[in-house]
Amino acid sequence: MTSASTNDIEFRSVAKRYGSVTAVSDINLAVPKGAFVALLGPSGCGKTTCLRMIGGFEQPSEGTVFIGGQPMNGVPAYRRPVNMVFQQYALFPHLDVEQNVAYGLKQMRPRIAAAEIARRAQEALEMVRLGGFGKRRIHEMSGGQQQRVALARAIVNKPKVLLLDEPLAALDKKLRTAMQIELQSLQRELGITFVLVTHDQEEALSMSDLVCVMSTGRIVQIGPPEEIYDRPASLFVADFVGKTNRIAATIDAGTNSIRLANGVGLAKPASANGTLGAAMVALRPEAISLVRNGRATLQGTVTHRIFLGSSVEYSVEVDGLGDFLVTADRRSLNENDLAEPGERIGLAFDPNALHVFPA
Ligand code: ATP
Repeated sequence: MTSASTNDIEFRSVAKRYGSVTAVSDINLAVPKGAFVALLGPSGCGKTTCLRMIGGFEQPSEGTVFIGGQPMNGVPAYRRPVNMVFQQYALFPHLDVEQNVAYGLKQMRPRIAAAEIARRAQEALEMVRLGGFGKRRIHEMSGGQQQRVALARAIVNKPKVLLLDEPLAALDKKLRTAMQIELQSLQRELGITFVLVTHDQEEALSMSDLVCVMSTGRIVQIGPPEEIYDRPASLFVADFVGKTNRIAATIDAGTNSIRLANGVGLAKPASANGTLGAAMVALRPEAISLVRNGRATLQGTVTHRIFLGSSVEYSVEVDGLGDFLVTADRRSLNENDLAEPGERIGLAFDPNALHVFPA
């Protein structure tokens, strides 16, 4: 059992049912104080339900959610040391920026002095780099600025935990990337625990210390981003977090090799230990190099080439295995290296790049 002093949020055997629908079950999760955790998974997997149980907008059907070591059963949302930022920022259009940020403080009892409210609202606005915008109307702010107002409003009363439900979904790609960096530094500055719900794997990997991958109401893997990406616990995680090629394979007892579905045999990778018989293998597109004339493990024909700016993505029809995705970093390429659609090509990779799962 984990200690209350080091974990800010803890789920112990939590399930939530809505009538006959089981939204989440068997959720066990410990989020250390001051961590940035992402709940990542496809639509409907139960991310928002978990977030709402932390916020107190839903009660678990089974199990207990703890915040700061305290069980939260029956504790209403407004008594929890938690604030939430929504995808729709839900700002008040008739109030100016500062009044929006100060709104929650004004409702507090016992009352807080007006000068103190103004000071704290200003401080929160400066934290999100909107120091000079207090008197602006909401409709005079851009989408990114409105999102920052919503953030300032959520941090103004210094919650222990900030819950973020797809907070950047409404922003365009460039602004989203900029806000990801800002949110991360804001979290470091404030030192409070952030729980982010997202279905965007790039966002989860780039922002959080801890990624919690969910599928159909359950947690399927928890770990730092590098671990989730480099050592996926299942084919589902390998597929959902990053791109992957899937290869059917067989591992026979007594041999030290793995046989791919097209008959090619390779040294057994470390991840195959314990797996026997039919297996599925995941191989990241960037783990493969396209080679001409060199020693290659597989052969194929290039079918498409997609230019992505900093990288090039190829589709290659691999002999006996079907369509593969291969990505090449452009720094490692010069113009003559670019393979052409229709070209026969070799695929080389380290067998240890294969992630093996029982079929
Ligand atoms: P999304 O990314 O689409 O928001 P999610 O991962 O956040 O999805 P949840 O909103 O937590 O998923 O929903 C989990 C499951 O619970 C879904 O099957 C959903 O239909 C169901 N569900 C959620 N809220 C309710 C409700 N109030 N009544 C009935 N079923 C619900």
